[in-house]
Amino acid sequence: MGVVRQIVEKLCVIITIILVYENALVFYQYFFPYWWSHGFYRRFFFHLIIGHWLLINTIMHYYFAIAKSPGFVVELKKELSTQEELNYTKCLKCDVMRPPRAHHCKVCQKCVVRYDHHCPWINNCVGYRNHVHFILFCFFMALISAYATIVGQKQFQLVMFHDQILFGLFAPILQPEELVTTIIEHKTIGPITGVLTLFLFLTNLVAMGLVLMLTIWQISLITKGQTCVEERIDKSIVANSVQGQKQRPYDFGFKLNWARFFEVNKISELLFRLLIPFPFQPKHDGTQWISKDNKKN
Ligand SMILES: [Zn+2]
Ligand SMILES: [Zn+2]
Repeated sequence: MGVVRQIVEKLCVIITIILVYENALVFYQYFFPYWWSHGFYRRFFFHLIIGHWLLINTIMHYYFAIAKSPGFVVELKKELSTQEELNYTKCLKCDVMRPPRAHHCKVCQKCVVRYDHHCPWINNCVGYRNHVHFILFCFFMALISAYATIVGQKQFQLVMFHDQILFGLFAPILQPEELVTTIIEHKTIGPITGVLTLFLFLTNLVAMGLVLMLTIWQISLITKGQTCVEERIDKSIVANSVQGQKQRPYDFGFKLNWARFFEVNKISELLFRLLIPFPFQPKHDGTQWISKDNKKN
């Protein structure tokens, strides 16, 4: 990886950590002290539990996505069977024999099992071994940004527009009306609070929009049993073929695609993965994939 790219990717990681931290800051700075000191204990504990559940999941999945190896082919170090030798292809760039679904990452200069893409925001490849954490990080990041934006919208509205009604949609459920009154009465809004609030609100909004789009795209790929690379290859095959038929050799329908991606058998196991940020333990080495013609590649 080039030096410039390394610096840019490290900066991307720092920006992501700041964005996650911002969500916590909104609560620790504005809301928790206010709810506690004014005796809104039910609201305080409700947001304490929900907020920390979102925060812990976001941080843990981000950490795992960065720290876990995506599954570099060179790490496998195994003797190939005759069947595997037939199905493997040689990568001309890094000179390894690679299994089906493995692709070469131009940034890492290595082949990765069930390669999805190289992500600068985690300074790592997304492959078979860390893909679950990557998608769960995106999901929780979108969720926590939306949560902080919705709860903090009244604060933003007040500071920036002097309480003109802009976003009243979630007002009855979540907005701390009392906080607004306190701020108006005590005129606590200084220029720093204004700039900070604007910065927090807008960056959260942008992060939420971008991560939400990425999450929806990743969800659609899981549903189709494809990776980013496979979608690209499939599109080019469809564009160049006479029949224009979709390939998707690993698409076994919605339910099975999701069960295989998360390596779960029951919906309760999937819910468990969503609730608690345990490290993903792959059930195989990422070299054997059942394709539609019913044989293990
Ligand atoms: Zn390679
Ligand atoms: Zn890479």
